[in-house]
Amino acid sequence: MFFRYQRTVKKPVHFCGIGLHGGAKVRVSVSPSDRESGVVFIDELSGQEAVANWRNVSCTNFATSIAYSDGSSLSTVEHLLAALYALGVFNAFIKIEGSEVPLCDGSAADFVRAICETGTADMPFETKILCVEKCVLIESEERRISISPYNGFSVSMKTRVNSEVCHTHTFDSSIDSFVNDIAPARTFVEMKNIPVMKSAGLIKGGSIKSAVVFNDDKVVNPCGLRFRNECARHKVLDAIGDFSLAGMPIFGRIEGVQSGHMLNHSALKKLIESESFSVKKYSDLFCCDERPDLNSLSSNEIHIKTASSPGRNSARAREEAAAV
Ligand SMILES: [Zn+2]
Repeated sequence: MFFRYQRTVKKPVHFCGIGLHGGAKVRVSVSPSDRESGVVFIDELSGQEAVANWRNVSCTNFATSIAYSDGSSLSTVEHLLAALYALGVFNAFIKIEGSEVPLCDGSAADFVRAICETGTADMPFETKILCVEKCVLIESEERRISISPYNGFSVSMKTRVNSEVCHTHTFDSSIDSFVNDIAPARTFVEMKNIPVMKSAGLIKGGSIKSAVVFNDDKVVNPCGLRFRNECARHKVLDAIGDFSLAGMPIFGRIEGVQSGHMLNHSALKKLIESESFSVKKYSDLFCCDERPDLNSLSSNEIHIKTASSPGRNSARAREEAAAV
């Protein structure tokens, strides 16, 4: 997941879907950048812009929101940002007709698939990498997250859905692993929490097509889980999206227990504000003399296992999940 040159998308990529909380149809286009712009969100109607950066985070309840300069917000940015991070895209313009990034199936699979099909392109700017120099820890009751020095990028998550379901997973920086093992993992919710969220005006666009729903230790979705530890994998996905708000790839190890968007954001903020990092060029960390490749990502480079696509889930996966 470390590329010598910064990348953008090769051509505009389009998505359309339903926003989780508002329930409205949302159109999104991700277009190439010609400069070190960062990932920039643009409200299609107002023209307001906001860089995808931790300083612009406005809310971390249920999802991560980014604030435009007029005070309005864009919600649920984390899955799209995780896909861009994993594919090395740190410069792009994302136009959105609405206040939420569509939830799709609750995972980042659609974003990854579309960006891989369109391709990415190297830019003539060497990648800068945020290297964690000192461990940062955030704890809140039984929740914790740490980010510590590491020679690469690793994310480990342990999450408890309820007293009967606890999932763990470790991801270690392979792009193929992200595409096949992390991107398809869906968000999840406990059935007993749905009425509360609905009465608060949330999840109008939610359904079992966009999340894993648990009723105690049972999965309500007819197709079950995609992975026996799908919830922990989704927490890895969320963390990658939230930490992508550093604006550059990270050399560090993230370890979380019951962590969510609020703790992820707090840890990144503390890391930056306590200056527990350095910024190095790719060539300071890796030996390489390759040149920018304007056709850097083709569909041949990433191997998307169609066998792990939605619908593959077996009774065995459900049994394994129930046993965890
Ligand atoms: Zn999520």
